[in-house]
Amino acid sequence: MLRIARRSLLRSSISPSPSLIPRRHNSILSFSEDVELFRDVVRRFNTDLVQPNVSAMDAAEQIPASLVSALFDTGLMAVETPEEYGGAGASFTAAVAIVEELAKCDPSVAVLNDVHNTLVNTCVRKWGSDYIKQTYLPQLATSKLGAFALSEPSAGSDAFALKTRARKLPDGDFVLNGGKMWITNGGEAEIFVVFANAEPEIGYRGITAFVVEKDWGVKVVKKEHKLGIRASSTAVLALDDVHVPAKNVLGHYGKGYKIAIECLNEGRIGIAAQMAGIAQGAFDRAVSYVYRDRKQFGKFVGEFQGMQFQIAQVATEIEAARLMLYNAAAIKDAGGEFVTEAAMAKLYASQVAERAASKAIEWMGGVGFTREESVEKFYRDAKIGAIYEGTSNIQLQTIAKLIQKKYAN
Ligand SMILES: Cc1cc2nc3c(=O)[nH]c(=O)nc-3n(C[C@H](O)[C@H](O)[C@H](O)COP(=O)(O)OP(=O)(O)OC[C@H]3O[C@@H](n4cnc5c(N)ncnc54)[C@H](O)[C@@H]3O)c2cc1C
Repeated sequence: MLRIARRSLLRSSISPSPSLIPRRHNSILSFSEDVELFRDVVRRFNTDLVQPNVSAMDAAEQIPASLVSALFDTGLMAVETPEEYGGAGASFTAAVAIVEELAKCDPSVAVLNDVHNTLVNTCVRKWGSDYIKQTYLPQLATSKLGAFALSEPSAGSDAFALKTRARKLPDGDFVLNGGKMWITNGGEAEIFVVFANAEPEIGYRGITAFVVEKDWGVKVVKKEHKLGIRASSTAVLALDDVHVPAKNVLGHYGKGYKIAIECLNEGRIGIAAQMAGIAQGAFDRAVSYVYRDRKQFGKFVGEFQGMQFQIAQVATEIEAARLMLYNAAAIKDAGGEFVTEAAMAKLYASQVAERAASKAIEWMGGVGFTREESVEKFYRDAKIGAIYEGTSNIQLQTIAKLIQKKYAN
């Protein structure tokens, strides 16, 4: 896998990084060489291709196709996909480290990458038949963006109340009808994992997952205008008589609910990574400003104890969020039970992201409140962490249920 990561590094046209960030030794937060290599690739990617366009992408509410292509060309869109399907065959920790690093620069680019890797690639890799894996993983590794279409107007937290129907035809194929809401990457995606109920009479046990190609009739009805992560597309989709071959059922008929739950359980660690990246990105910008740029009363504003204690508090919270996130990822990589840790990491990291971005604005004063330095953007981008892939209440509910299970018997 290291070889692949190096190959990605070499095949990228990105210029070398001026300096590598010092490694931490003997810490839970010191990573394997392949993870560090991916981080270095992303730092260069950010410097050369993302950072110069952050404000423009936010204003245009779009990530240009050229940047999506660059993510593919740099080898960042198939992190865990085995080499035989064109991926890097790297760890889940590597996948979320990439998300964290991208989010330090642009949380919209981070979520595009996160949904593609931790939801779509994972669904196809874990539950796809040989046919599905051979057909779709190479496309998802090299050029075609994926989207995960579960939510609907009346099915958000109660995701399995979905109304999209899958009608089974006599030859075993299916016809999908319904609508999906708030679908990340929905505007640009060419491959969708779609959840539909094939047997509503039996409730959630009828929910089935399908791999659906856009050309089969997935229509983008609308792209939402949002508070934050504005460059990331969030689409309303219509599925009108979309014919899906039987061989495109993901996993088994009626097991869509299980696929969605398991996928989102690990996907939440990706969102925790996005949130930790937001917190660090806002922190880095503001703390550098208070120690290097802004003087009041004859000294750098960071030298006042009132500022230093706040900075210390936020730094501590970011450290805790990262420990939780990489602990959850490590348990997952080791094949352990990680649901509680993932929910805790997402819940906490999203709170830290909001606080850190809010404080960063205050530390930068008037400059922080303007659009000039993009710190206000981190604040807007942080808010989504409490909403998608399970709201904060849903994370608390998951954590509480598992605590009850442990202690009530
Ligand atoms: C930018 C964005 C991107 C998204 N991307 C995707 C995507 O790619 N794919 C996809 O399928 N979905 C996506 N979603 C949908 C997202 O997962 C849902 O918005 C989320 O699950 C919450 O559902 P809801 O919006 O219907 O809120 P609701 O479920 O209506 O919740 C409203 C409030 O009620 C609370 N609540 C609900 N039920 C309970 C309960 N049982 N106990 C306590 N409180 C409760 C919630 O915590 C929340 O505060 C995205 C959403 C957004 C905004």
